[in-house]
Amino acid sequence: RDLLSQKEVLGYQLGSFGVWVDALVKLIEALGGEVEMNAAVDRIVSENAKLKVETIGGSAHTFDAVLATISNKALLRIAPRFGEEYTGRLKSVAYQDAVCLVLSLRRPLTGHYWLSINDRSVPFLTVVEQTNLVAPERYGGRHVVYIPNDVTRGSSLGQMTEGELAASYMPHLRRMNPQFDESWVEGRWLFHASDAQPVFTLGVGSRLAGHRTPVRGLYLANMAQIYPQDRGQNYSILLGERAAAMIGEDLSRDEMPPPSGLDPIPAPFPPE
Ligand SMILES: Cc1cc2nc3c(=O)[nH]c(=O)nc-3n(C[C@H](O)[C@H](O)[C@H](O)COP(=O)(O)OP(=O)(O)OC[C@H]3O[C@@H](n4cnc5c(N)ncnc54)[C@H](O)[C@@H]3O)c2cc1C
Repeated sequence: RDLLSQKEVLGYQLGSFGVWVDALVKLIEALGGEVEMNAAVDRIVSENAKLKVETIGGSAHTFDAVLATISNKALLRIAPRFGEEYTGRLKSVAYQDAVCLVLSLRRPLTGHYWLSINDRSVPFLTVVEQTNLVAPERYGGRHVVYIPNDVTRGSSLGQMTEGELAASYMPHLRRMNPQFDESWVEGRWLFHASDAQPVFTLGVGSRLAGHRTPVRGLYLANMAQIYPQDRGQNYSILLGERAAAMIGEDLSRDEMPPPSGLDPIPAPFPPE
């Protein structure tokens, strides 16, 4: 945010966050690390003061410390038992999944970058016209619009195919721009992400799960720990720095600290 006006200042990484991720992978490899892609973790097992991480593909690695950056729900599925208190804290945050339809249009849809919609008769929450932030020339002259939605697992919107979802959205896009015609659509893509939006309810701030889990050497850094802020890549980067410092500090001791049982609640994230 802008310091004086507190207005949000928007920026965009040309080439997307993929540019950062690629650079990060190169750096990790240059430092002797390895990155295993498409290797969903099936189980984390605590064994002889170490942690064994087993993937669905059958590979297994043993580490002194493991940082999980997955949702509370996903962690509960794969981690050793945490005990009632920490488990309760993890469960106190509900999640919604994301369904995001991306359209490539021949013409602009609106004059706005971000349109928030608070109208129950419209089946989506936001229309983001990327090419009102970054010029269409960067996208080969196309006008790129994405329509994100937060849905409850199992809801009909989450089950729809790309064609069904596009068909159900079209009449509502015409409400944003009565000239809009389906013939403007040159391409469309549908993306899903599980547990993409933590839902914070009353009192959750005093029940946040700490980064040090009760299992020795197992840490957690995820979107549910940035309360009272809302999800954003900037907070994930800050979380990563905070967790890395904590793990480095613990590993530098002669002995890893015993499982804390309950870590102090992370300090609330201040606005930047
Ligand atoms: C539609 C949409 C638009 C957004 N726009 C912006 C924006 O413009 N700017 C911005 O800053 N932020 C934006 N965000 C928010 C941003 O995407 C999140 O803040 C960020 O992705 C959080 O990063 P993360 O690493 O904590 O979690 P995630 O990105 O959710 O990463 C968690 C990863 O863990 C993986 N995973 C889960 N279980 C396992 C397992 N068992 N084994 C291995 N991997 C597993 C998941 O597949 C996932 O890839 C947007 C989010 C959405 C949904």
